[in-house]
Amino acid sequence: MNRSKQTVLITGASRGIGRECAAAFAEAGYNVAAVYLNSREAAEELREKTGCEIFRCDVRDHLKAKKVCDAAAEKFGGIDVLVNNAGIAEQALFSDITEKMWDNMFDVNVKGVYNFTHAALPFMIHEKYGRIINISSMWGQTGGSCEVHYSAAKAAVIGLTKALAKETGLSGITVNCIAPGVIDTDMNAHLTPDIIDELREETPVNRIGTPEDIARTALFLADERAGFITGQIIGVNGGIVI
Ligand code: NAP
Repeated sequence: MNRSKQTVLITGASRGIGRECAAAFAEAGYNVAAVYLNSREAAEELREKTGCEIFRCDVRDHLKAKKVCDAAAEKFGGIDVLVNNAGIAEQALFSDITEKMWDNMFDVNVKGVYNFTHAALPFMIHEKYGRIINISSMWGQTGGSCEVHYSAAKAAVIGLTKALAKETGLSGITVNCIAPGVIDTDMNAHLTPDIIDELREETPVNRIGTPEDIARTALFLADERAGFITGQIIGVNGGIVI
C-alpha cells in the first residue's frame, strides 16, 4: 500500500453506525466512498459535511456493487478499507417468518457482504494490502429470541469473516468483525423507553452504545498497525455479552 491517503468504502453510510463511520474516517483523513440506498437527503448532507463521495446502491445487487467498487477505485486509486455495515433487522416469531422475509434478511445482511467484498477484494489483492470490517451483531454470537433470521444471518457474517481471514492473510488483507450490542440508532427506534432502560440496567457499563463506539472500533481495526488482528469477532457491547 503506497498511496499517501487511504480510501474506505462504507455501505449503509446514510444513517446510524455507517454514517458515524463515514464521518469518523473522513475526519481521520481517509477518502470516503459512502454507499446509501433510500436516504438520499441524508447522504447528500453527509457529502456536504465531510466531502465524501456518495454512491446509490442496493447491496443485494451484485452487478451494481461491482460498478460502485470500480467507480470508487477509479476515483480514489483503489480501495484499502471496506466496512460492510448495511443491514436490516426484523422482529418476528419463528413461525411467522415467511420465505420472503427469510430470503430478504439473508440477501441484505449476508449476500450484501459477499457482493461488496467480492467486488472490493481484487483492488486489495492488487495492492497486497487491505482491511475488511464486517458489522455483525451480538445476536449472531448468542442468538436472539424472535430474531432467528437476523441471528442466523449475522452468524453467517461471522463464519464468512473467519473463513475469508484464512484465505487473505498472505495477501496482507485482514478480515474482522464487529459484533455490536444495543446501539442507539433508528434500528432500535421501535424500543420503548422502558425496554431501553431495562437493557441499560442489564449492561455492565450502565449505558446503551452509541454509533461512535462502533466507529472508533472500526477505525482501530482499519489502522495499518492492526495488521496482526484477523479473523476476530470484536464485541462492542458494554459487557452485555461476555
Ligand atoms: P440503521 O440506522 O437502520 O441504518 C441502516 C443503514 O443500512 C442505512 O444507511 C440504510 O440505507 C442501509 N441499508 C439497509 N438496507 C440496505 C440495502 N438493501 N442496500 C443498501 N443499504 C441498505 O441501522 P444501524 O443500527 O446503523 O445498523 C448498522 C449495522 O449494524 C447493521 O448491519 C446492523 O445489523 C448492525 N447492528 C446494529 C445494532 C444496533 O443496535 N443498532 C446492533 C448490532 C448490529 P438507506 O437508509 O439509505 O436505505
